[in-house]
Amino acid sequence: MGIPQHGIDKDTLLSELTAKRARDVRWQDGRTFGMVYDGGESVHEVAEAVAAMFLHENALNTYAFPSLGEIQREVCDMTAELLHGDTAAGFMTSGGTESILCAVKAARERGKAERSITAPEVVLAETAHAAFHKAAHYFGLTVHKVKVRDDFRADVDAMAAHVNDNTVLVVGSAPQYPQGVIDPIPDLAQLAQSVGASMHVDACMGGFVLPFMEMAGFELSHPWDFRVDGVTTISADIHKLGYAPKGASVILHRDKHLRQYQTFVFDDWLGGFYASPNVQGTRSGMPMATAWAVMRHIGLEGYQRLTTLTIETRQKMEAGVRAIEGLTVLGHPEAQLMAIAAAPGYEDRVDVFALGDALQERGWFHDRQGPPDTLHATVSVGNAPVADEYLRDLAECVEAVAGIRAADRSTNYATLE
Ligand SMILES: *Cc1c(COP(=O)(O)O)cnc(C)c1O
Repeated sequence: MGIPQHGIDKDTLLSELTAKRARDVRWQDGRTFGMVYDGGESVHEVAEAVAAMFLHENALNTYAFPSLGEIQREVCDMTAELLHGDTAAGFMTSGGTESILCAVKAARERGKAERSITAPEVVLAETAHAAFHKAAHYFGLTVHKVKVRDDFRADVDAMAAHVNDNTVLVVGSAPQYPQGVIDPIPDLAQLAQSVGASMHVDACMGGFVLPFMEMAGFELSHPWDFRVDGVTTISADIHKLGYAPKGASVILHRDKHLRQYQTFVFDDWLGGFYASPNVQGTRSGMPMATAWAVMRHIGLEGYQRLTTLTIETRQKMEAGVRAIEGLTVLGHPEAQLMAIAAAPGYEDRVDVFALGDALQERGWFHDRQGPPDTLHATVSVGNAPVADEYLRDLAECVEAVAGIRAADRSTNYATLE
């Protein structure tokens, strides 16, 4: 396909795009467990109005667009307050991956500046997000990937065996993505501190859930945010359960001194002084402004309401899954994520990938993951109205696929074309 010789009118283009979307997942109906998180009608209205307003703005230069500088600062301040970072400072990024890239790069720079480390190493659990491996690959760090415990939480003793004088970063997740359990952050932070390394808490999923769970009276097994000594950076995605449109995350450092290791400053080309806080150069103002507006539109009360409903829905789904003969949920998820697996002893009878295919025929979409083979569910408030229907379909599908093994074993969580 080439660019058309003669331009095409808006209505034609919109109908072409509508046709392209026919096979996309139906997130609007709450039938997708991840990827799009639906905060409801009024959140859409706010986001769409603000998106139109900031569609063309460029946050590359906040001297030209002081509004975006202010928006970024206020979003970081709101997030820092949520995560108990009294002195915390940071930046907005395009998403969890970019926030993690920034944290890894900052840890590397800090190790170089403060401990003269030239061969930096990262210690993380095998459940840590793939973005950490991407960051290490981009920035030339060696990764020590350590097996998790039987409950899928990071194994602190096993990780300690890999911490040494070259360790610049220890990673923990709150919660981790694959099974939704929270790593022992206080122990990991202590481990990082023992050699003067940075400690990153990946709260991409939990950053806009765990604080509201705490406010709403849910028990969490242990503290995980800046209240924990030794935690130096936290990533929190507003475009997940913050319910903002895609392209909005926050990376926070414990203080401004640590934040300096993230920024890139350059004054030796013919274009003048250039400073850039994150990976992007030209940077759309749209996701920044929509995130700012959505956070303020929902408010603390709204987030507690959305979070309570989300966690109750996850609990209902977890109980429903466990009640179906042949299925189980791995570990003990504390927040909004869980992994559905064949129950011990049922591996031959129940293939969760065949189950995922059967569910997809009924319009339900789970990401497939492993090892071990599981169906991933990130539950959000949009799933609440259809949770009972889902559980009924799930039970029927388990019967329907008994003994059937899916030919396709891929765990597709990718864009390769
Ligand atoms: C989603 C996620 C990321 C990566 O974030 P993107 O926004 O997809 O780039 C990192 N860590 C965890 C735990 C996540 O759930």
